[in-house]
This record gives sequence, structure tokens and C-alpha cells, in this order.
Amino acid sequence: MFDYLIVGAGFAGSVLAERLASQLNKKVLIADVRSHIGGNTYDYYDENGILIHKYGPHIFHTNAKAVFDYLSQFTPWRPYQHRVRAWVDGQLVPMPINLDTINMLYGTKFTSFQLDEFFASVAEPREQIRTSEDVVVSKIGRELYEKFFRGYTRKQWGLDPSELDASVTSRVPVRTNRDDRYFTDTYQAMPLYGYTRMFEKMLAHPNIKIMLNSDWREIDGVIPYREIVYTGPVDEFFDFRYGKLPYRSIEFKFETLNKAQHQPVAVINYPNDYPYTRVTEFKHLTGQEHAKTSLVYEYPCAEGDPYYPVPRAENNELYKRYKTLADDTSGVYFAGRLATYKYYNMDQVVAQALALFDKISEMIPARSREVLHEPTVIYTPSPALGLVGRNGVHH
Ligand code: FAD
Ligand code: UDP
Repeated sequence: MFDYLIVGAGFAGSVLAERLASQLNKKVLIADVRSHIGGNTYDYYDENGILIHKYGPHIFHTNAKAVFDYLSQFTPWRPYQHRVRAWVDGQLVPMPINLDTINMLYGTKFTSFQLDEFFASVAEPREQIRTSEDVVVSKIGRELYEKFFRGYTRKQWGLDPSELDASVTSRVPVRTNRDDRYFTDTYQAMPLYGYTRMFEKMLAHPNIKIMLNSDWREIDGVIPYREIVYTGPVDEFFDFRYGKLPYRSIEFKFETLNKAQHQPVAVINYPNDYPYTRVTEFKHLTGQEHAKTSLVYEYPCAEGDPYYPVPRAENNELYKRYKTLADDTSGVYFAGRLATYKYYNMDQVVAQALALFDKISEMIPARSREVLHEPTVIYTPSPALGLVGRNGVHH
């Protein structure tokens, strides 16, 4: 009998599996419909031996020390600061928009102070910042909005920025200094040996069993378990009772070139040209040295694997109805980007899973927790044997 069936081996499912097994000695079965662990962060070596991300570029960044410390148990890191250029008016300019972006675009020599004044002169005041259009136009005006945000957003979401919550374009700042990093978080690094290796470590516990290529419904009723942690799409769990929640998908097209480097930075955004939104060159992210280089082009689409919840009022309303159902379903915990319909980054999913774990452990009666925390086998960890888990099991 398993204590938990965990649906999905991505960050949400794997963090909960690791915590439940290692801290509460629970027996956990993870089922994932895919042929691999890691969820959307899965990486592997392609046929040329280049480490690539199967579901698009994943760059780790967080301000949460607790999240960074937690993951550091399972991987060493490679410091990496992400940089992006946008292809606009025939030039590659820094994105997020900064002082250099504007000076390159307009041939000006603004100082930061002058750029502040320039933005103020072109900004269109809005009474309320409600949509993704309001956010940008109220800061930098219509022309820059159209050059950098409107086309990209329409491609990415199949919606105009005016139809999306402010939170979407708010992810990308506007700067008046020369900082050309995509993120400014305290911790910015890539798992040194890749995400998949990190997940292998996280899940290498004798209490955790993994079934790949398995939809959880195939084993429901066949393998006994006490409770479920569900990290798939929430509407699917309830057989789309209230209709489909929109999720945006992407078609990834990979290419390997017979040269060591193709573009100056890891990602180039194409807000206005071509049907794809961005092109990623993986070696910038991984630091790998190789005579060839692999790229991925992202073509957003409506059908396909669900990747992005679509933040807008009507979808949030529909999600709320599913959330009420979820709250009323005892014995099932919902976690992660698809199950809680939140446009979360990896670190936010880890934080959410750690918080859910705390909630679950608080619900376990104190007496049985005390018993569970007693080691059943006394052991002496030996440095020569590497990591030794509880009960003296090596992993
Ligand atoms: P997932 O990784 O989606 O895991 C859910 C798992 O559940 C999947 O493996 C799925 O196969 C499985 N599943 C679903 N239904 C079933 C079923 N019926 N039975 C069994 N298994 C099932 N975040 C960042 O922090 N930085 C980035 O740079 C970044 N880039 C991104 C780029 C792209 C293109 C995308 C799509 C996302 C990006 N993210 C990034 C977000 C990141 O991928 C997510 O925050 C994180 O992977 C979510 O983890 P999760 O466990 O919630 O979901
Ligand atoms: N965005 C844009 N132009 C850009 C980059 C981003 O319009 O060059 C908008 C777009 O709507 C995008 C959102 O900002 O979906 C968030 O961008 P981010 O890079 O965070 O997207 P993600 O990496 O999550 O796909």
C-alpha cells in the first residue's frame, strides 16, 4: 500500500515525493504519462551530444534563499546570468528595454536622467493598470509598446495584450540604466549537470517508486494508495465538468548547426518578424563546449501539451470554480502550474510544494509524527560511502 500517489514527476510532484519520503518516511508512487522525469524542465543530450531542454529554455532564478538551499542538496550549480536581445528595426538590442536599447534604436545619446524624461514624455497616462497593454503603454508609450510587446504577445498568447492581465507583461521590467540582464534575482544559476540529473538525485530514495508512460487513471483502482498529490491540469482531473480551461501550447523545433556559436546571447526574441517568438542557443545556458551548436525555435499554438495558463479575468473565474471543487475533494492535494492554474516560475512551484508539504505534515497527528521521526535502524554515516539516507540506505 502506498501512502501517496503523486501524479506528475515535474518540480511540484518531485519536491513533494522527496519531502514525504525523506522527512515523514511515507511510501510514494509517482506516475507520469511522459517517458521521463523532470516535467517541463527535462533536459537530455541530443544525437550530437549537446545538452538541450526538451520543452524550451529553463533558466533558474530566485530571491528565495530557502528554495535555493533546498535544491542545492541535489545539485551543484553553474553561475549564469541570463541575457536576451530583441530583433527590432533590423538591429539586435537589449531586452528588457534599457538605456542602450533606446540609444541604439533612436541614435540618441540619452543619459539615464534624460531617458526618464523621454519615457515620461511618451507615456500615456492610464487611470487604472488592468491589462498587459496598460502596463507598457503607461510606462513607455505606444511606439515602444508596438515595437517590443504587441507583436510578441499576440504570437505568444494568440491574444492582444489588452485582453491579458497586467501580470503577463509586468514580468518584463523597463530600465533606465545599462543593466542588460533578464533577471535581477539574488540567486541565478543552472544545475551544473542539468535538470534531469538533479531530479534523479531528488527521487533517489528507497521509499519512492516511479512509473513512467503511465496515465494515473490506468493504475487507479489497480495499485492501492491512501491519498493523491495531483500536478496535472486541474480541469482534466474533474473531466472538464465546467468546460476546458485554456492553456497555451508551444511547438518546439530543434536545429543543430555545424559551427560552435550561432548568436551572441542565449535567447533572441523576435517580436515582429517570423512566426516564432524566440530562438535559444543552449550552449550559452549550459556552458557546454562543443564544435556544433543546437538551437530551439518556439512556435506558440492553441493545441498540444498544456504549458501556460492564460492569465485573464474570465479564465481566473473559471479556475475559481474548479478550485472550489478541488478544495472539496478530500484526500487529493493540488500543486504546480497546471493544477493551480498559475503562471509560476520553477522557484515558485518549489516554494508552493514546500508549503504544501508543511501543511500536510501539520495535519499528521503529533504522536504518529514522533514515531515516524524515530530512526528504525541506527547507523554511522561513513564519508567513504557518500550519501547515507535514513535506515542506512545509500542513495
Ligand atoms: P510540469 O513540469 O508540467 O509537471 C507536470 C507533470 O504532470 C508532467 O510531467 C505531465 O506529464 C504530468 N501529468 C499530467 N497529466 C498526467 C496524468 N493524467 N497522468 C500522469 N502524469 C500526468 N520557469 C523558470 O523558472 N524559468 C524559466 O526559464 C522557465 N522557462 C519556461 C519555458 C517554457 C517554454 C515553459 C513552458 C515553462 C517555463 N518555465 C520556466 C516554467 C516551468 O516549466 C514551470 O514552473 C515548472 O516546470 C512547473 O512544474 P510543475 O511540476 O508544476 O509542472
Ligand atoms: N514579452 C513581450 N516581448 C518580449 C518579451 C516578453 O511582449 O520581448 C511579453 C509577452 O507577453 C510574454 C511576457 O512578456 O509572454 C512574459 O515574458 P517572459 O520572457 O517572462 O515569458 P516566458 O519566458 O514565461 O515565456
